[in-house]
Amino acid sequence: MKQYDLIVIGSGSAMNIVEPMIRRNPQIKIAVIDKDEPGGICLTRGCIPSKIMVYPAELVRIIDEAEALGIDVEIRSVSYEKIMNRMRSLIDEDINSIRKGLSNSENIDYYHAQAEFIAPYHMKVADETIGGKMIFLATGSRVLLPRIKGLDAIGYHTSDSIIRMGLKELPRSIAVIGGGYIAAELGHFFSALGSKVTIIGRNPQYLPDEEPEVSALAVRHMRQNMAIMMNHEVREIESIPGAMKKLIAVERQTGSRVEVEVDEILVATGRGPVNDILRPEKGGIETTEDGWIQVNEYLETSQPNIYAFGDANGRYLFKHVANYESEIVYYNAVLKRKVKVDYHAIPHAVFTYPEIAGVGLKEKEAIEKYGHDRILIGFQRYEDTAKGEAMNAKDYFAKVILERDSMKILGAHIIGPHSSILIQEIINLMYTADHSAQPILEAMHIHPSLSEVVQRAFSSLMSPEGYHHILGHHGLA
Ligand SMILES: Cc1cc2nc3c(=O)[nH]c(=O)nc-3n(C[C@H](O)[C@H](O)[C@H](O)COP(=O)(O)OP(=O)(O)OC[C@H]3O[C@@H](n4cnc5c(N)ncnc54)[C@H](O)[C@@H]3O)c2cc1C
Repeated sequence: MKQYDLIVIGSGSAMNIVEPMIRRNPQIKIAVIDKDEPGGICLTRGCIPSKIMVYPAELVRIIDEAEALGIDVEIRSVSYEKIMNRMRSLIDEDINSIRKGLSNSENIDYYHAQAEFIAPYHMKVADETIGGKMIFLATGSRVLLPRIKGLDAIGYHTSDSIIRMGLKELPRSIAVIGGGYIAAELGHFFSALGSKVTIIGRNPQYLPDEEPEVSALAVRHMRQNMAIMMNHEVREIESIPGAMKKLIAVERQTGSRVEVEVDEILVATGRGPVNDILRPEKGGIETTEDGWIQVNEYLETSQPNIYAFGDANGRYLFKHVANYESEIVYYNAVLKRKVKVDYHAIPHAVFTYPEIAGVGLKEKEAIEKYGHDRILIGFQRYEDTAKGEAMNAKDYFAKVILERDSMKILGAHIIGPHSSILIQEIINLMYTADHSAQPILEAMHIHPSLSEVVQRAFSSLMSPEGYHHILGHHGLA
């Protein structure tokens, strides 16, 4: 049986730690195991390919709006095939270079196979049994499929199959089951390329992790290009003549039945753990109620020297969180420090049109945590700044949430062009010692740039009531 200093399962964020460990100990022997293409989901079928796809979709929408700015332009065609081939060739290049690095390293045995615990610190990989003194579980997550009558028989796509080029041609119409960020981004992609898109989500709120007013504005804008049916549950799928598929959905409150006929179905109803392959229970590793790997604040599992990070622990399924947690594991597992994870300012973005970004607490959470009277909310519309007006950026806004006495930033939510970049200034301050908004108020902001949207949101602070009154006044409530 081969014995390793370290076994790594998952070649995504875990690779952040492998390189520095080899530099520290040139004799180290590491097994890196991944059942899929190397590089992890973000590269192979997640963030990176999906963003290569949605960027041209964003350009389509910008061009659609150019007429209002005095540009008479017409899109002759958009090639699904070219966009997908470009995506594939860009990610294939990276995957190949990672594969080469893994295969050529003297310190690494790279297994392109499934790993399964057979006993504590012992795993079965392909037909071998291997042992490890330390194990990193960075196994990611996988598509969760809802139980819908007829789904398997009739056929469907997921983000995995779309990105892996399982859909050869742009469908004339597509139903997206799910209303979270993957559903929204891929719905935006297909609609911008010319498919008739219908989003069918179970949750009453589209993009349920966003502030309600951000979600409402996203719905208002995105409904111009696709149908969005929330609070609907798809109960059954049937095939109908002409190789079409019929989805039968029920409105969850009224029970009224809706039928949607489409060429293709994309399921994007969430992600779950991959433990049926890993069998953590055989390794003595505890899991949460939902089946994610249980970790403590140091990202240790219930077994000493076994750590789980990234999607595998089910806390925040974002690549930047996986990267951050890999650093924490490096400190704790390798440098033997005791560093706790800190999730006070987890940012995210939704790369739809409009783009959405958020960090930290939402209004309701802030009020619950700090009390209503200790909260201030700042608000600024893009169109009330010079650059926003120049861009004709109607309705979009930034909302910031602060603690009244300390001026500590608690959260921020922005919907509109470049929101994922605009929010970074706020995120950075949330990582200072006092999280104070003061530097934004004091620093010169370039005029006229969109950064003024953020600065002015911080200089127009009000009570939650005042904020909701203004929202109503602008038709955004
Ligand atoms: C469509 C889509 C879009 C996304 N967009 C974004 C985005 O814009 N921004 C963002 O921050 N995040 C995004 N994400 C999420 C992001 O991809 C994940 O958070 C990130 O990949 C998690 O990294 P990780 O290191 O935890 O594991 P991963 O990189 O997911 O790697 C896990 C690897 O382990 C392998 N594996 C699992 N179990 C076993 C086993 N038992 N044996 C062998 N191998 C195993 C898996 O096959 C996989 O290759 C997106 C995800 C999807 C699906």
